[in-house]
Amino acid sequence: MTGTVIVGAGQAGAQTAFSLREFGYTAPITIVGAEAHHPYQRPPLSKAFLAGTADPQSLLLRKQAFYDKLEIDVRSRCTVRDVEFAGDRGTAYLDTGEIAPFDRLVLAVGGRPRRLDVPGSDLDGVTYLRTIDDAMSICALLGRSNSVVVIGGGFIGLEVAAAARGRDAAVTVVEAAPRLLSRSLAPDMSEFLRDAHETAGVTFHFGAAVTAIEGDGEHVRRVILTDGSQIAADAVIVGIGLEPRLELAERLGLETDGESSSTSIPRRVITGCWPPVTAPSCRIR
Ligand SMILES: Cc1cc2nc3c(=O)[nH]c(=O)nc-3n(C[C@H](O)[C@H](O)[C@H](O)COP(=O)(O)OP(=O)(O)OC[C@H]3O[C@@H](n4cnc5c(N)ncnc54)[C@H](O)[C@@H]3O)c2cc1C
Repeated sequence: MTGTVIVGAGQAGAQTAFSLREFGYTAPITIVGAEAHHPYQRPPLSKAFLAGTADPQSLLLRKQAFYDKLEIDVRSRCTVRDVEFAGDRGTAYLDTGEIAPFDRLVLAVGGRPRRLDVPGSDLDGVTYLRTIDDAMSICALLGRSNSVVVIGGGFIGLEVAAAARGRDAAVTVVEAAPRLLSRSLAPDMSEFLRDAHETAGVTFHFGAAVTAIEGDGEHVRRVILTDGSQIAADAVIVGIGLEPRLELAERLGLETDGESSSTSIPRRVITGCWPPVTAPSCRIR
């Protein structure tokens, strides 16, 4: 049996591999992941990691010995660029020039942060939080910033704001909606969170959109809002949602809705399976 290739070494990809073994699947399993790290937990990135109480090793889902024992091959720093089929077999093409043959393919490709598309959004000091590497950059950035602007008052934005306040920076959160987490929380909870953050010293701008980010030379210095207000910033962290990575799914003809989500979780689960999902072909033995 050729085995299963799992594209994406995030929590979904890793857990799929663990579950396949748990349920008795014995054919080869290869997890291909674009990041440099073995599968790890993202939730602590905006919490313990930014607070300085967790290191990259502590975030790993499992140590190498666990993958060895389960005979799961993890290929880090590799991106699956394309997939081809011939009969009931397929081949994944990696950007390293290698190939990974399969008879079962799992897409566990997750998403990428939605980008802020305004003038100045590519300045130094404007950044996003998705990976360990992002979190390390943000730690360094916060360490040398007095004024931090967080764009997006979602869970990640608020957690970043709290971490920045923990480092004594002046912190402003810009939120387009009239209250915090309005899509997922009742007004009382929004108010509770707002109070807690304001008590900690965070300033909020609600119903506000960013029109531009300005810098001196290459580094960010201020954020300009639609109402004309200017907020001083040495660091800007953007947390305005996630876009599901649909490219491979679309190439495979899987159904996708193409919509992006403004929460940290894609609206539609895009983890897919090839051959196309019908009950018999999805059996794992
Ligand atoms: C800072 C932060 C805090 C969070 N906090 C919480 C929380 O408190 N509670 C909660 O429930 N959720 C939280 N989340 C969300 C949670 O982490 C995600 O829902 C989860 O990471 C999704 O896992 P995933 O495996 O589906 O996708 P991802 O984590 O996105 O992993 C997909 C992986 O696939 C790789 N990949 C993509 N395409 C390819 C390709 N073609 N070839 C190779 N590799 C590829 C990507 O590089 C990525 O490593 C948080 C997320 C972040 C970023």
